[in-house]
Amino acid sequence: MLTMIYNLIEQFFSRKETNPFPGTHVPENTPVFLQSGQLTQPVPVPEHFRGKPDFDYSSCIGCGMCERVCPARAIELYPVLEGEKKSKKIVIFLSRCTYCGECADICPKNAIRMSGEFMLAGFDRNDDSMIVGNLERREHEIHQPAGEAPD
Ligand code: SF4
Ligand code: SF4
Repeated sequence: MLTMIYNLIEQFFSRKETNPFPGTHVPENTPVFLQSGQLTQPVPVPEHFRGKPDFDYSSCIGCGMCERVCPARAIELYPVLEGEKKSKKIVIFLSRCTYCGECADICPKNAIRMSGEFMLAGFDRNDDSMIVGNLERREHEIHQPAGEAPD
């Protein structure tokens, strides 16, 4: 009994680990609320938190190791031209990603890094914000002529 009272008093005075994120009350209109700037900032994530994978296009050598280890089949390779040479780059579909970090661990060029970003909800899984590297894909992907086998 004494231990319980001690724990209650200790918790009453100790620092809170959570906060009323994203606001104190459920807003009437969430999109308007998010744009209003009244957002309560989230608690900082711990050092090795695995949030949205970041991809560095220029570091990627197209080896495909990330695609092979991804348990969720969330990574897709596509062909690009680097100078005269054919190579490959990747996109990551966040709607499939389980944030396991295997791709970042295996990448020999550190082209993938698990960031601290966790606000990843969206209405359209095909939106650029839900496909890491999609903007670069649109700019650089080369399309094989019909009938030609991919490298
Ligand atoms: S974090 Fe895991 S699930 Fe997500 S893309 Fe990388 S390997 Fe695949
Ligand atoms: S493992 Fe790294 S270098 Fe290889 S394709 Fe994936 S991101 Fe590119």
